[in-house]
Amino acid sequence: MIRGDFRLTKQSIFGKKIFLFFLRLFLILVIFGFQAQYLDAAKKIRVVTSVFPLLEFAGAVSGERGEVSLLLPPGAEIHTWRPRPSDIIRLSSADLFIYIGADLEPWLHDLLKSVRNPNLRVLEASRGIPLIDGEGIVHNAHEHEHGAHDPHIWLDFENDQRIIDKIVAVLSEMDPERSSVFERNASAYKEKLLRLDKKFKDGLKDCAHRTIILGGHAAFGYLARSYNLRQISLYGLSPDSSPTAKKLIKVVELAKKYKIKVIFFEVYVSDELAKVLAEEVGAKTLVLNPGANLTKEQLKSGKTFFDIMEENLENLKDGLICK
Ligand SMILES: [Zn+2]
Repeated sequence: MIRGDFRLTKQSIFGKKIFLFFLRLFLILVIFGFQAQYLDAAKKIRVVTSVFPLLEFAGAVSGERGEVSLLLPPGAEIHTWRPRPSDIIRLSSADLFIYIGADLEPWLHDLLKSVRNPNLRVLEASRGIPLIDGEGIVHNAHEHEHGAHDPHIWLDFENDQRIIDKIVAVLSEMDPERSSVFERNASAYKEKLLRLDKKFKDGLKDCAHRTIILGGHAAFGYLARSYNLRQISLYGLSPDSSPTAKKLIKVVELAKKYKIKVIFFEVYVSDELAKVLAEEVGAKTLVLNPGANLTKEQLKSGKTFFDIMEENLENLKDGLICK
């Protein structure tokens, strides 16, 4: 009996040791598991973009792997906005910065010079994309040195597909294991762009007018080229300086000549002159949004690039009297 008791005790000590061993192993696995999960979440690719369309493209391609944010505060106008010290800090902790280039972001060079982040990758979306100038003439990318080219490249939905391919390439370099996921995400988004392009083609095929008179700046050169329209604008390629009286008179003359019944205006550029113009030629006003940025309300309501473009299409069909 005594011997038996002794053996039992020895066995129970051994059993306890095994139990403790497995308990420790279990705890270690749990802790590592949590850590692995935590690291995974923390390892999101932080992408900052200069304009809203790039934000949406980067978000669509990177999916759950990306943490995308917009450099511009809501409602800010891309041509006239200037970065703040907090933007330098933001880019210091980012992994990827995507901008348009082609002089859309005149502050870009100074901003990047101030950012101390050797790991920051930078993607210029317009690189390799043929640019058009203010008159709609096609030039090779970066041929111009003086900012006469139109930087609003995202208003050509074929350009957008090329930009998305560039985003796939850079993200795949950063995370090769997920390249097939990025590819898949990109294909789905490009499908939607093709459908959008078709809607524009169909919607703007048969219209009483083909001239868009803009009370804002000349942001729609690419859109006009794609759908065989013509843009006449009060401001130049950027709305940073007010149009001259001479320009105003010229636009009024053209509007009268083309018997224009609608003046388009932008949300971020004062609509004062658009209203003056509309009154002068007896036209109404409608919004045409380049979509470089959204207002706080639009962001809150979850508006997408497609929503903005489809609203533009509806207003164009209305303003140009399309069947
Ligand atoms: Zn613009």
